Amino acid sequence: MARSYDAILEKTALQPTRQGLRDLLENDEPELLQALTRHAYHIKTSELGRNVYFRGIIEFSNICTKDCYYCGIRKSNHLVNRYELSEEEILREARWCYENHYGSLVLQSGERRDPAFVDKIEWLLKEIKSLSQGSLGVTLSVGEQDLKTYERWFLAGAHRYLLRIETSNPRLYSSLHPKSHSWEERRRCLDYLRQSGYQVGTGFLIGVPGQTFDDMAGDILFLKEIDIDMVGMGPFIPHEETPLGSSAPFDPVRQLTLGLKMIALVRMVMKDVNIAATTALQALSPTGRELGLRAGANIIMPNVTDLAYRRGYQLYQNKPGLDENAVEQRINLEQSVEALGEKVCYGEWGDSLHFKKRQKG
Ligand code: SAM
Repeated sequence: MARSYDAILEKTALQPTRQGLRDLLENDEPELLQALTRHAYHIKTSELGRNVYFRGIIEFSNICTKDCYYCGIRKSNHLVNRYELSEEEILREARWCYENHYGSLVLQSGERRDPAFVDKIEWLLKEIKSLSQGSLGVTLSVGEQDLKTYERWFLAGAHRYLLRIETSNPRLYSSLHPKSHSWEERRRCLDYLRQSGYQVGTGFLIGVPGQTFDDMAGDILFLKEIDIDMVGMGPFIPHEETPLGSSAPFDPVRQLTLGLKMIALVRMVMKDVNIAATTALQALSPTGRELGLRAGANIIMPNVTDLAYRRGYQLYQNKPGLDENAVEQRINLEQSVEALGEKVCYGEWGDSLHFKKRQKG
């Protein structure tokens, strides 16, 4: 039965069209999901092997100047206890990543652009490079900044940056954000990042209210159009203290399926990029991240933030891993990756092959 999809999937992988992608996203037959997953997994393993890279994520502050309608740490959510890790705490967690042979870490926080924040990140980058003798790769995920700031941080040692555009449709973007937030500005930041020398990652909220299958098809083509190096996207999950918290009935199975289909389709279209199996998948199913690897993802970002702060970084409700410390998470994840017949590549950066090929010209 599933074989009947093979020709369509091969065609889509070679020559993706908006209509073709939309049809595949719209079709909710379980056989299609199976065929898609199988196809994408085959592409992943032939392009990148059965290798998984861990990036330890440090969610170092939930202080945010933005007010996105979907996000639990938006500035208008006054029920959140705001926190900011000290330099010492961040460096302790970075050292843990180094000592546990994670090739890279991710520094993520709410968005701030003030000089104290910019200086702190620059200082931290230099310290992290120094404590690991240059061996830890650092990805930043701290939002929109000006070109000069991106350049400073690149020079200080960051070499990858994740900035989700959230949707490729500017009209949908404006329905998800206040007027002061600009899709064009976020898009410009992706250009600044490329210009500054980073491996650039972006991604979307999947299944967010108001989004159509056509929008999602457009999202996939957007990645191709901007020639992205890394993808981090995940299903939208409501957070009750946000304007989108109760906007529509929430169907976790639908969200998970859409998330997996998007991963598979992105892998088919962008064969050699890094794709993260994000925590939002795990929030929808205990094995969500493993399913993400099966659908074509090759990156996992285990949370290494001290447990004392985890509750403060709830972007959506039921965020998993609130009580699972860094050691437990490493052991559990390693076991589940191995159970899939894949290998965790410790001590390696696992840079985007797509980026490397572009560098070589
Ligand atoms: N401030 C940085 C930025 O803007 O890129 C990074 C932190 S931000 C909280 C990280 C990502 O969380 C966002 O890009 C968004 O896609 C995701 N996120 C926020 N609220 C979410 C929700 N309710 N469901 C799923 N993902 C969500």
